[in-house]
Amino acid sequence: MPSGWVHAVIDLIAYGRSYFDLHKEKDKHYKILGPRHRCINHGWYQNYGRIWSFCDPFPSWLKESIRIVRNKRGLDEAEEQMARIDHDYIDKMWDTLSEPEKQYWEGFFAWILFSPKILKDWARVDVLKAKIQRIINNREVWESCLEIKSEYKRLCNYIKAVTKGNKALQETLEVVKFNKGQIYKKR
Ligand SMILES: [Zn+2]
Repeated sequence: MPSGWVHAVIDLIAYGRSYFDLHKEKDKHYKILGPRHRCINHGWYQNYGRIWSFCDPFPSWLKESIRIVRNKRGLDEAEEQMARIDHDYIDKMWDTLSEPEKQYWEGFFAWILFSPKILKDWARVDVLKAKIQRIINNREVWESCLEIKSEYKRLCNYIKAVTKGNKALQETLEVVKFNKGQIYKKR
């Protein structure tokens, strides 16, 4: 499974928020159950092949149910719901990768995290000024979100600590930096 911080960086890219605690909470049984931890808290993962597939990862009924959550309980809860679902989707994707691919993607996401300019220009999250670009009434608006600064700092410190103790990740990060984030190609 990808580490919790990989999920957090993906969500930072997708939503401008990391949901780090949410991902840690979902994977908390890993310590006891190992790879079998996904029998708990991973309903979407478990239902792969039954209610969703890679051809149709987010079916229209799911989008509709999230829209209902948004209308009834607000945007924040709807986004959290999306973060829970995308966690399981990424877990399932991760299963399909080879070990070198997993390693490369870890390096890629660490590189992205340490590149605030790319986060701003590409992912539309300004981690330095704590703003997220959203589309409101068909207009692009940079919304303030003060939590981003502390979330970003926490994630950076976490990944710096992980990288320090992980030689393979240090090397991959250097390769990704050298390639300027070019996507891994199968040999
Ligand atoms: Zn998981």
